[in-house]
Amino acid sequence: ASPPAKRYTITLLPGDGIGPEVISVAKTALELAGSFEGIGFGFTEMPVGGAALDLTGVPLPEETLSVCKQSDAVLLAAIGGYKWDKNEKHLKPETGLLQLREGLKVFANLRPASVLPQLVDASTLKKEVAEGVDLMVVRELTGGIYFGKPRGFGTNENGEEIGFNTEVYATYEIDRIARIAFETARKRRGKLCSVDKANVLEASMLWRKRIEAIALEYPDIELSHMYVDNAAMQLVRNPKQFDTIVTNNIFGDILSDEASMITGSIGMLASASLGESGPGLFEPIHGSAPDIAGQDKANPLATVLSAAMLLKYGLGEVKAAQRIETAVLDTLNKGFRTGDIFSDGNKLVGCKQMGEEVLKSLD
Ligand code: ATP
Ligand code: MG
Repeated sequence: ASPPAKRYTITLLPGDGIGPEVISVAKTALELAGSFEGIGFGFTEMPVGGAALDLTGVPLPEETLSVCKQSDAVLLAAIGGYKWDKNEKHLKPETGLLQLREGLKVFANLRPASVLPQLVDASTLKKEVAEGVDLMVVRELTGGIYFGKPRGFGTNENGEEIGFNTEVYATYEIDRIARIAFETARKRRGKLCSVDKANVLEASMLWRKRIEAIALEYPDIELSHMYVDNAAMQLVRNPKQFDTIVTNNIFGDILSDEASMITGSIGMLASASLGESGPGLFEPIHGSAPDIAGQDKANPLATVLSAAMLLKYGLGEVKAAQRIETAVLDTLNKGFRTGDIFSDGNKLVGCKQMGEEVLKSLD
């Protein structure tokens, strides 16, 4: 075979629990999908989370972060486990994930939620409502009420204890997440719904104003606005109306969890975290599932689909991404299911075999 026309460096972070099992499936899927599109990969595997704690005493070793920063994209599997649950805060595996997001300066979190025709029964919604749902929540990740100052505890005029936080957004923070959201909508069906509470909150009023300003750069995208209370309702009433949703940190936290539950399959859901420049971070939304770790029971498809997002949103390799997405659908069409998505009449397989079936479908 001729050498690949393009070559990317990818950092693999297997992490803990089922992480190593699912990431090896995603790695081989990337290699095979890339080979059909003239794309080669150089993979570097680095420790993070509990695995890094055991090895180096910290959840995100400096070397892991610097290798990540030098690569074109980072694929992370999962972090955490019972073993480290009693650790102090700065020595928790999960701290490694927060430090990684901070280190890579990723401020946009993309979470797709689609109800695949093969898995309609897994949805928590009625079949008619669930069928055909295919949406993406773009959540601002580094601003808003989780980080705004002033914050803290105090006392009010009656001497009563109070807790307070501040919702703050600056123009540049809204503009950059808006651009990512419009670009995302452009790679999807060209519709963007911005969710805010602009009838009550000043930070939301600025949000809406800036979204409308940035919209002028994207005349091809159909923009709408929705108040967050209505959006929460519409997501379960008629989720099909949404293509891409963009919203702030706290609303996105809530709405992305709501959206993921309507699909009903944690083992299938991918995510991407993107910054302005530099590598994006791609990971399944599920945790390390210590209850099934090392038993060849994990569903690798969330990580495989995260690898597809890596290709599409991290490297701009849309065709290779589509190859992976198609192979996943094809594998489900053939009836292969891991335990988390199993239903009667299908073929129950383990993590390894699910991976092999995806590779066969890619071929
Ligand atoms: P977090 O690390 O986000 O706190 P958690 O502990 O809340 O995660 P998970 O680790 O995601 O939750 O596990 C929740 C349940 O879902 C467990 O029973 C786990 O076995 C199951 N689960 C999670 N991911 C998968 C997967 N990829 N395949 C099969 N089952 C999974
Ligand atoms: Mg957990």
